[in-house]
Amino acid sequence: MNAPEAKRVTLRFAMTKPRAFISRRIPRSALEIIASACDYTMWDDLMPAPRDHFLRAAAEADGVLVMPTERIDAEFLAAAPRVRVVANMGVGYDNIDVPALTARGVLVTNTPDVLTEATADLAWALLMAAARRVVEGHKAIEAGAWGAWHPFYMLGQDVFGATIGIVGAGRIGAAIARRARAFNMRILYHNRRRAPQLEAALLAEYRAFDDLLRESDYVVAATPLTAETRGLFDARAFALMKDTAVFVNISRGAVVKEEDLVEALKRGRPWAAASDVFAVEPTPRDNPLLSLPNFVGTPHIGSATLRTRTDMATLAARNLVNALTGQAPLTPVNPEVWPIKLANGLR
Ligand code: NAP
Repeated sequence: MNAPEAKRVTLRFAMTKPRAFISRRIPRSALEIIASACDYTMWDDLMPAPRDHFLRAAAEADGVLVMPTERIDAEFLAAAPRVRVVANMGVGYDNIDVPALTARGVLVTNTPDVLTEATADLAWALLMAAARRVVEGHKAIEAGAWGAWHPFYMLGQDVFGATIGIVGAGRIGAAIARRARAFNMRILYHNRRRAPQLEAALLAEYRAFDDLLRESDYVVAATPLTAETRGLFDARAFALMKDTAVFVNISRGAVVKEEDLVEALKRGRPWAAASDVFAVEPTPRDNPLLSLPNFVGTPHIGSATLRTRTDMATLAARNLVNALTGQAPLTPVNPEVWPIKLANGLR
């Protein structure tokens, strides 16, 4: 090969854009970030692509931007040999087999921080709704069942000055605790490790799991879903709670044994519960929880505000583009992969 030909080949290689696949329609500002650096295809719909389409599209891609509803597992790895980054549009990554991807040198990124405040707001919306019977009250009005005012009508639980216990006091848990300060609440928390900063900043007190359940008026689950937290809130845990307690779950559905929660709510311990997340999503209409007056549900909308979803998509897009263009990812889940195997064009 003579010198000019070698130069042409080099140039063509340098101008080859990485290929990205985006598994759902995302806000335009995020799409533009990807379009500026990648050739991309997008499943341009609000509903997920059929699995076989998703896997076929991933097969062509160097990187994918996915939703927490996409399973990224051995089947995905087998179907997508080129992929070197999976950018998850969510902070929780229980949908992704991170050890398997790490072993293959595939970078995983998530979207922490940008959704913390919105999710903490929703946790509080659920807490207040369950404590003060907001949904039950609305249904009573709708059904024409609002009788005369009387001293014992629709009594709820006091929030101001009560004790809140947060299981999983990380970014979101701490944001929930900050709001609790304004309600003059005593704050308990349980993590695997103590968090001195949280204790200093919010006067939070560490408790063993069982003690937190016994002492709290409000128990909030805000852990990731892991092998350790799967089924953590079961019949035993509910039996330790007060008969006036309110349980709130914004973590993942599988941290709760739903059938145990149904029985516990029927018995009145805890007094009420609220959840943004379910074992199966969307949860079926005949989920027994939905027929209980002391249960409030929302359809996994913790981060669902326009600003937050735009910020999540933008962060996921930046992570994807950075990884595919040789720049450090902003929020890696498995940073050990970077930059050894990921360096642009070396795989
Ligand atoms: P984070 O900052 O990593 O906080 C997680 C906390 O859980 C950490 O403080 C961690 O502390 C604690 N933890 C982990 N394993 C535990 C265990 N076995 N027992 C007790 N505590 C444990 O994460 P984040 O940003 O706050 O998000 C937390 C989770 O919320 C996500 O993973 C996701 O599942 C969920 N989420 C839900 C929504 C929604 O829409 N409902 C939105 C966003 C996030 P240690 O490591 O010391 O144990």
